[in-house]
Amino acid sequence: MSRGGRGGGRGAPGGRGGSRGAPRGGRGGRGGARGGKAGPGGAGAKVVVEPHRHAGIFVAKGKEHLLVTRNIVPGESVYGEKRISIETVAAEGGADATKSKIEYRVWNPFRSKLAAGVLGGLDNIHIAPGKKVLYLGAASGTSVSHVADVVGPEGAVYAVEFSHRSGRDLIGMARRRTNVVPIVEDARHPMKYRMLVPMVDVIFADVAQPDQARIVGLNAHHFLKNGGHAVISIKASCIDSTAPAEVVFAAEVKKMQAEMFKPREQLTLEPYERDHAMVVATYNRA
Ligand code: SAM
Repeated sequence: MSRGGRGGGRGAPGGRGGSRGAPRGGRGGRGGARGGKAGPGGAGAKVVVEPHRHAGIFVAKGKEHLLVTRNIVPGESVYGEKRISIETVAAEGGADATKSKIEYRVWNPFRSKLAAGVLGGLDNIHIAPGKKVLYLGAASGTSVSHVADVVGPEGAVYAVEFSHRSGRDLIGMARRRTNVVPIVEDARHPMKYRMLVPMVDVIFADVAQPDQARIVGLNAHHFLKNGGHAVISIKASCIDSTAPAEVVFAAEVKKMQAEMFKPREQLTLEPYERDHAMVVATYNRA
């Protein structure tokens, strides 16, 4: 169903085509901030920031094109990532026009599977401004922090991580990012955090466990809206290190179907991750 190759190979159950691959901006003219200078680490190069076709994600176009998210806590990096500050000028007002700054954080696809999936050309990640996301396998919160930027102040990220060591960093990150609810629990036991999590629009899963499909199913039956979506990163070697990755991905998709998910898209995460696939599926309760 999926193919390898640069920029993420795809197979698209029900996919809709469209151009894929490298970072792209929006289709132009949708309020991209222009003429700014790169902030810390940006070496002062001129950078233009334009909306990506996925709402809440942007592309910084300077010497190179970088995927970025709008920093919900300007002035702070989470894990040492570069920030880019762009000066915007109100469209009207002549010499008196008010200037303000917007800060973006560089989202590295080698450190975030979701970023790799976006650059690989996923048609729809369902994670957008205002959405509620249940994130399983939050680790120390590097990717979670970008998801928090994407959903913005009107959205929320419920981030589940069972390692106490990673959980400490996750809690630290969430202190300033008030749209993140850190939950240091085992995602196999959703009843333990049912008081913290409302019905959500999307489950993002990256627990890298052999029983990930079951974990996603359990959480979906508790918290995912009917018609909501799952975005799942599958690491073939964590599930079966002896079978070919393609066979493992197909078996995982079957397990998701048994959990009432209808697969919509699938792509591999090369060149950013080896033997990983990302699957997007729609949840329909019987
Ligand atoms: N998504 C993270 C990121 O992009 O920064 C990386 C996640 S890492 C591949 C998998 C994480 O899932 C680990 O931090 C691990 O401790 C966590 N994990 C594994 N099984 C889990 C479970 N049953 N419940 C909660 N977290 C789990």
